[in-house]
Amino acid sequence: MTDVATTSIHDDVSEILLGEEEIRQRVGELGRELVERYADRDPVLVSVLKGSLVFLADLMRSMEMPVSIDLMEVSSYGAGTESSGQVRIIKDLSQPIEGRHVIVVEDIIDTGLTLNYLLKYLADKGPASVSIVCLLDKPARRLAEIPIDHVGFTIPDRFVIGYGLDYDERYRNLPYVGVLKPSVYGGAEPVE
Ligand code: 5GP
Repeated sequence: MTDVATTSIHDDVSEILLGEEEIRQRVGELGRELVERYADRDPVLVSVLKGSLVFLADLMRSMEMPVSIDLMEVSSYGAGTESSGQVRIIKDLSQPIEGRHVIVVEDIIDTGLTLNYLLKYLADKGPASVSIVCLLDKPARRLAEIPIDHVGFTIPDRFVIGYGLDYDERYRNLPYVGVLKPSVYGGAEPVE
C-alpha cells in the first residue's frame, strides 16, 4: 500500500486544554443541573451556530427530559480572532419564544459583547425566563457583564479551537478543546 501523506488537523494544536473525557463528564453534569432546574418547565434550548453545535448535541442528549431546540446564527463584524461587538443576525429563531423558558447554549464567552446583544434581542420577544449555559468562560477580556448561570470550564485568555470552535471555519471537528498555534494566525509564540 502506498503511504499517502495527509494533513492532520491535530498538527496546528499547540496544547490540549480540555480532553474528550473531561468534556464529556462536565457536559453530563451541566445536563443534570439543567434537568433539576427546569423539571416540568418545558424549556427551549436556543443555540448560537456554528460554534455551539457540538456542545448542544452533547448537552441535549445528557438532559433526560422533554426539551425543544432552536438555532440562531449571528456574525460579529470583525476579522480573525477578535470580536467587535457589532452583531448581525444571519439566522433567526424559527419558533416564537413568548412565554417560554429559554436556555441559551453558548460555546464560549469572551468579551461578552455578542451575548449582550443577543440577550437584549431575546428579551424583547417576551420569554418567561432566559438563562445561559456556556461551555467555556474566558473572563480575562470581558467588556459586558453577563450573568452566566451554568459554566462548563473557565479558561485562560488563549485562542481555542475544537469541539465546535473554529479558526477560519476549520478545526470544529477536533474532539477536544485545544490551543491553536499562534503561527497559524500570524501571531508570535508565547514566551514561556
Ligand atoms: P464575544 O462576543 O464574547 O467576545 O465572543 C463570542 C464569540 O467569539 C464566540 O461565540 C466565538 O464564536 C468567538 N470566540 C471568542 N473567543 C474564541 C476563542 O478562543 N476561539 C474561537 N474559536 N472563537 C472564539
